[in-house]
Amino acid sequence: MTLTDILGSTLSFVWDIIATVCGFLYDILSKIPISETPWINFIISLLIILFILGIIGYLVDQAKEKEREAEWAVYRAEREAREAKEKAELEAEEKAKQDAENTCPKCHAMYQFVLESKKEIDRYQINKEVWERKANGKDVSRYVKCTKVVEEFTYVCDNCHDYRFTKEETRELE
Ligand SMILES: [Zn+2]
Repeated sequence: MTLTDILGSTLSFVWDIIATVCGFLYDILSKIPISETPWINFIISLLIILFILGIIGYLVDQAKEKEREAEWAVYRAEREAREAKEKAELEAEEKAKQDAENTCPKCHAMYQFVLESKKEIDRYQINKEVWERKANGKDVSRYVKCTKVVEEFTYVCDNCHDYRFTKEETRELE
């Protein structure tokens, strides 16, 4: 069986269906006494058939549209679920990291670190570039001296008072 044969039998099958449906509709419509004149009767029948086909086409389109919307809704729900899962995993990871950072390695108490002392360990001056707008609307930069202070903060575990760690922070004096 060649492709042409398959195509031919398919087309003749489709044509048979169309011819049967049309013949059936024509039989019904020709029995309705719309007009005495055959060609007016035929044209009105044709218009009615086209109208019915139009309605069928419209309903098919509507059904397809609904199907597409349903598919889209499923896709959206899946994507939202996936994003929510990823976000939850990320948050859990972040929390685990935070917990680990805030767990005392000696007594394993969590979130018990308190500031014990702080001291200045360094102080230096830098030249900082600052921008200003002149009256003529131009931006010009100049250098000003500013002081940086490095401080060391000592934290202690409030539970066992046996574990300490330090953290350095640099801030700029006003
Ligand atoms: Zn501790």
